[in-house]
Amino acid sequence: MAAASLAKFSEHREVTITLVESSQIGTVGVGEATIPGIVDFNRNLGIDELELIKATQASFKLGIQFENWNKLGGDFFHPFADYGMEIQQVAFHHFIHHLNRKGAGLDLTDFSFAIQLAKQNKFAQPHPNPPTPLADYSYAYHFDASLYAAYLKKFSINLGVKWIDGEVEDVKLNPQDGFIQAIQLKDGQCIEGQFFIDCTGFKGLLIEQALNTGYEDWSHWLFCDAAVAVQSELVGEPTPYTRSIARENGWQWRIPLQHRMGNGYIYASHFQSKEKAEAMLLANIEGGVINKPRHFRFTPGRRKNIWNKNCFALGLASGFLEPLESTSISLIQTAIAKLLRFFPDTSFNPFNIAEVNRLHNSEMEHIRDFLILHYKLSSRNDSAFWRQCQEAEIPESLQHKLGLYKSCGHLIEHETESFEPSSWLTMYNAFGVVPDGVDMRASMANTDSLIKNLQQMKASIQGAVQQVISHQTFIDRHCKARMPKDS
Ligand SMILES: Cc1cc2nc3c(=O)[nH]c(=O)nc-3n(C[C@H](O)[C@H](O)[C@H](O)COP(=O)(O)OP(=O)(O)OC[C@H]3O[C@@H](n4cnc5c(N)ncnc54)[C@H](O)[C@@H]3O)c2cc1C
Repeated sequence: MAAASLAKFSEHREVTITLVESSQIGTVGVGEATIPGIVDFNRNLGIDELELIKATQASFKLGIQFENWNKLGGDFFHPFADYGMEIQQVAFHHFIHHLNRKGAGLDLTDFSFAIQLAKQNKFAQPHPNPPTPLADYSYAYHFDASLYAAYLKKFSINLGVKWIDGEVEDVKLNPQDGFIQAIQLKDGQCIEGQFFIDCTGFKGLLIEQALNTGYEDWSHWLFCDAAVAVQSELVGEPTPYTRSIARENGWQWRIPLQHRMGNGYIYASHFQSKEKAEAMLLANIEGGVINKPRHFRFTPGRRKNIWNKNCFALGLASGFLEPLESTSISLIQTAIAKLLRFFPDTSFNPFNIAEVNRLHNSEMEHIRDFLILHYKLSSRNDSAFWRQCQEAEIPESLQHKLGLYKSCGHLIEHETESFEPSSWLTMYNAFGVVPDGVDMRASMANTDSLIKNLQQMKASIQGAVQQVISHQTFIDRHCKARMPKDS
């Protein structure tokens, strides 16, 4: 992603880009669910969307279905979309609260076009002129991460990136200022550069091992620190959403691609052994397993700074938060956008570096808070893991957000927020957080005309959903990938 973006950005500039990766080491290869920014990322590179979908065996994603999260047997959907429509510049959900306090029994999810589509396994790309503004939503992909990387590698090479398959053995620093001068490969090659992007995964070969940037550990807030992943045969049609199923000591993902299912279990190693985690995952797979389960350990948190001297860390080298809301690939993308915006010259202005670090750190903190919310608000108390999640302290920033919502249903949007207010609303609503008061502006609305307005909105959504084809039909018509055995 970095090489492709930098190559595109410097197409008409005098910049030489070298991409070093090691076929011996390989990639983690499990990041398969994305959030909507990925659509723009590819579009900005000038990549044909449907061609990319075919090349990566992708399916579409309208959001995430959370199962067993609030209580065993319950589920809810997190869509990439708003609910209803503002009425006289007042957010829609305030009216729902107002009417529900009067006993209307309205369900917020009836006012989400994306949720209604997902419930019926339907998909279409958002229409540029939808029949109703209520039919506006975003989408993302589930894709084969290794195929995506291969696609972007080819794309980068076509734009002049020099690609080397080699293993970095040593990082040479300038003794005067500690900047990176060169990387030394195992085969003896020495690659000099002015700017280095560290995409070496969890170990952070440049940003940490060479520059000792430091890591902020958030494991006192997020208790999951291990994962096991396995691929299986697809049973039935791919759903246009990821499934996240809460389990006794963590949660399981199901990510449907066109040709297979990606499965994994994220868990707290303090509560569950590697062996039991693997057994739990394998007992909850639908189709036949097609590869060997792979285990991962991680420390939730972030690198103290993603930009240090002339090194910029991306991906796992910059930190990691469990993929509960599929945010890692998105963080790569937003970090690249910041890098391009503050593109360095050889003076490496410290203000630019500080600003990029400030923005990135704040973005990660908001994601961290959003993830903690899923655990904190759950009413599950059937295991020590869930009880610990609810008893744990939460960051002040989250206390503030939650407190504000509880008081009167207010949602805050920060400058660096990955999730829109509607995503936060989804969580509060799904976990049963009811505000103590109602926004004054909503409570003063005329109840009869409000109910009529809401009924019309609901009917428009239902009407628009009827016009949409199934997810599988959409794929078959527009972007069916060849099965790997046919290619
Ligand atoms: C269990 C799990 C589930 C995940 N699920 C999702 C998800 O659903 N959605 C999402 O957005 N993200 C997810 N992620 C995160 C996602 O996988 C990563 O953000 C993404 O794959 C990028 O990884 P990376 O390139 O930073 O690291 P890696 O994939 O580890 O790649 C490291 C690269 O550095 C190279 N390298 C390493 N050492 C050397 C060396 N010495 N010399 C030369 N080259 C070297 C390797 O060859 C490789 O190319 C998940 C991660 C995990 C662990």
